[in-house]
Amino acid sequence: MRALHVACALALCWLLQGCGTAGTFVVPQVSYQEALMAADKVDADPNLPEFHRSAAFYKDAIQKIGAELTWDVDPICARAKTTDCHFRFHYVGDDEVNAYTDENGDIWLHRGMLDYLESDDEIAAVMAHEMGHQIAGHVSATRNRAILGMLIGGLLMGGAAVAGNTTQDEADAMSAEGMYLGAQVGILSFSKEQEREADLIGAYVVARAGFDLDRAGGLYDVLAKMDDQVVARWNNDHPAGPERVVAWHKAVAEVRASGDQLPTLAGP
Ligand SMILES: [Zn+2]
Repeated sequence: MRALHVACALALCWLLQGCGTAGTFVVPQVSYQEALMAADKVDADPNLPEFHRSAAFYKDAIQKIGAELTWDVDPICARAKTTDCHFRFHYVGDDEVNAYTDENGDIWLHRGMLDYLESDDEIAAVMAHEMGHQIAGHVSATRNRAILGMLIGGLLMGGAAVAGNTTQDEADAMSAEGMYLGAQVGILSFSKEQEREADLIGAYVVARAGFDLDRAGGLYDVLAKMDDQVVARWNNDHPAGPERVVAWHKAVAEVRASGDQLPTLAGP
């Protein structure tokens, strides 16, 4: 069954054209060797410093930083052909180490994540990353690919069940499992590329707003300390921490070398 899972996953990757497909912008490439060297430098301290602040502090900081991040973001949206270039930021007062953007274009920042960030620049990097997902249209793309993956997965596994002379109940179960697997691959196969692209866009957004790119990169050091893998496995939905550190440094060099502080469009 596991071999079938892998075969189906590979088939889905191919059918969905999700593996390595270019996004909106050209994203920095990170070799295994580069990721390995970065992983060596990560000081995997299990006791990461935490900076506990009040809800009022965070709410105020998020609105102020959000205003700075958005005042000059329009040129990036225009280059990505993003029609809705409005961003709303919200504070979530719980311990979850998370930040995300939803289908309505709202960006949510959990206290659990913010408590690990030392400076406004690092907080700006998280917020700009989420803006990057929106600017590149990742939310709707992910939903559509999950639906497509679910349909193809259901067909593949259902077909395999019929070919294997299973009972109707077994075939239905395999088809359902295929739909679940397909939905996962539909999301996951794009997600790592989307994360890389959101990191890149985030660097440009942070730079245009006048935040310190070196201090903002502290976010990726924190994430690398939380994730000791060198490179992400195929079924992980985020690039591994050290890989993101290298990509961030490459993005920063790219931003500084660019005349117009705009990322390079992918494709013809
Ligand atoms: Zn993300």
